[in-house]
Amino acid sequence: MTSQTWRSLLQEKYQLSLRLFLFLNALSALFSMLSPLFRVKMITVPLVSILTLSIGLLIWRWVSQARTISLNLISLLFGLLWAWHIYLKQPHIPQHESSYLIIALMSVLFVGALAFINNLKAFICHCLPVILTVLWLDQGQHTIRMLYAVALPMVGIVIQHLIQKRNDAFAQGLMFKLMEEKKTLTDLSMVDPLTGLYNRRGFQNRLENLFALGSERNVVVVLDIDHFKAYNDHYGHMMGDQALARVSAAIRDAVRSRDIVARFGGEEFLVLLTNTDLEMARKTAERIRQRVFDLRIPHRFNAEVATNVTISIGLAPMHERNFNDAFKLADKALYKAKHLGRNHILTSEEMETEQ
Ligand code: GH3
Ligand code: MG
Ligand code: MG
Repeated sequence: MTSQTWRSLLQEKYQLSLRLFLFLNALSALFSMLSPLFRVKMITVPLVSILTLSIGLLIWRWVSQARTISLNLISLLFGLLWAWHIYLKQPHIPQHESSYLIIALMSVLFVGALAFINNLKAFICHCLPVILTVLWLDQGQHTIRMLYAVALPMVGIVIQHLIQKRNDAFAQGLMFKLMEEKKTLTDLSMVDPLTGLYNRRGFQNRLENLFALGSERNVVVVLDIDHFKAYNDHYGHMMGDQALARVSAAIRDAVRSRDIVARFGGEEFLVLLTNTDLEMARKTAERIRQRVFDLRIPHRFNAEVATNVTISIGLAPMHERNFNDAFKLADKALYKAKHLGRNHILTSEEMETEQ
């Protein structure tokens, strides 16, 4: 997203430069037609072309935003037209007005430097035809002065170019850093800090990605630690947190990496087993239950179940991407599993046959 913004920013700068260039050329052509500097007034084909082309292109750019025009091509075209105009006009200038070529060169350099202060290539495309023509027509009379006139804006543009490059690199670096930090923050906002599992938001996000990939045959598994309030009350909140972290790791280790594991509430977890059926999912659930049992986290108050921490599990298949219905069914199955004596697994199908 942001690199696109960067590109559109550059594009905008580019187009602004083009508009300025066209505007200055129109002005310059008009000025040349009125010719206040010289007695000779010559309205040549290239001059009229420059005026109509620049105004025409300006209007066209204003009306239609769709297509972008190559800056280098346009600047070269205008450079050639100016060179042609100077070539046509020069023979008509009286011999004593030797400044004509220099002034013509300076005005082209001025327009080029103003419009393309950030764009050395376009500047050269625009000025080179005129520089060569003027040097050729001048026949070595003012070569040094002309080269000096060319060198000044050129040096300015090169310096500006270097500064701009540094600024751009800095701005881009800053932007990438911000993007990275934004990603880190987004990632963090999706993860539960205690267990490292997804929170509800992270789960929702993963679920949407999964649906986008066209995943079917998913099973929703809801897990809840048995008598955890008693554990907290007797062992303390710190120990409770430790137990939660260990149980989370056990759940995560018992499933495949493509399954989604989330902490859905205080001591309630949710696993979405992907690309499976209820029978296979039940086996996975059994593996999870056993893994948590095998942690052997002492829990003397897990009344009538065991002397260590256990979990109960409810499962339901997800039909037609309807997560909410599957979740409700799985939660109901979990509730029943609790009533069956905890440390139990119950699927939505088993729940129906029991009723
Ligand atoms: P059941 O077997 O029916 O699930 O009983 P339970 O005691 O586990 O059920 P209940 O939902 O009443 O209790 C959940 C307890 O989990 C309440 C609270 O003490 C504990 N708990 C919830 N979130 C956290 C947590 O982030 N850290 C700690 N240490 N304990 C938590
Ligand atoms: Mg519980
Ligand atoms: Mg609970």
